[in-house]
Amino acid sequence: MERLQISGNSYKSVLDCLYDGVYVLDRERKIVYWNKSAERLTGYRSEEVLGHCCSDSILVHVDHGGNSLCQNGCPMAVALDDGIPREMEVYLHHKHGHRVPVLVRTTALFDESNRIVGAAQIFSDNSRYRHIAEENHRLRDLALIDELTQVGNRRFGETRLREMAADARRYGWTFGVIFVDVDLFKECNDRFGHDVGDLVLRMVAQTLRNSLRSSDFVCRWGGEEFLCMIRNVGGAELTAIAEKFRILVQESMLHTEAATVRVTVSVGGTLAGDSESWPRFVARADQAMYESKRSGRNCVTILPPEATISAEPSAG
Ligand code: GH3
Ligand code: MG
Ligand code: MG
Repeated sequence: MERLQISGNSYKSVLDCLYDGVYVLDRERKIVYWNKSAERLTGYRSEEVLGHCCSDSILVHVDHGGNSLCQNGCPMAVALDDGIPREMEVYLHHKHGHRVPVLVRTTALFDESNRIVGAAQIFSDNSRYRHIAEENHRLRDLALIDELTQVGNRRFGETRLREMAADARRYGWTFGVIFVDVDLFKECNDRFGHDVGDLVLRMVAQTLRNSLRSSDFVCRWGGEEFLCMIRNVGGAELTAIAEKFRILVQESMLHTEAATVRVTVSVGGTLAGDSESWPRFVARADQAMYESKRSGRNCVTILPPEATISAEPSAG
């Protein structure tokens, strides 16, 4: 049978058809190839990254605990070193600043003498992107989306809260809410301008949404405050989710021409009590969030369902 002769560029065309992101590093960890899905998943076009090192403020992977893998544990550096294929779940940095959960697989590339000459990474979208795109269309039709941040608006949040409270009563499910308020956001606006402030709000919203489970929701409750609704959780799990949100926002960053902008959030959460109406437990989560502000910001407070509170829900 005649041997198939394929030009090198044909392989690139095939790689560009994949849903997975693919990039290739040379021995010096410089990016030499970046496919179309890598552009889609990260927001960086290939001409922006070729020739750069992957740790040059491009992907800067972190793990669930917010630990940066660039200096310690970069899966590509390890592949270049020992040639062993690996797989792990990490969060990459998107050009818009937010964090995106991805499953990465790395493999070394060898020359004909079996020497390692580079490494390739294949990364797939571990978030709810496809589901989210459909949800966005539906919410836009219903005027329930917040145009700036692209998550549900306050009206959407209140509708979901009513539904979740009713489901919890009917089926005996537990659920919790988590308030997330950007720290010292006024200073951020004053320092970098209102337009950058807007991009920061979108970054925070997208990071929160990308790290939710598919049964959970986030809405923009008001100015720089977000409310997350988490189904079927106990107190310990709610605390872990709230802490994950805090860390992933802390590890998100927006590169502007003038500066790299980072923000932190104060987080407060609580479980809904039996037969409790939503304004009460939302007010308690708000109170928990203010406890985090009082404790110095960039931290998490979880109040038990029986905690007494003094405030009504914030107007945002
Ligand atoms: P704290 O840590 O106590 O929460 O301080 P803070 O500065 O975040 O809180 P404060 O309530 O004083 O300020 C909130 C700021 O959020 C003031 C307001 O201008 C800004 N803000 C609200 N909505 C938007 C928006 O849509 N875009 C921008 N850029 N800023 C907004
Ligand atoms: Mg606020
Ligand atoms: Mg604030």
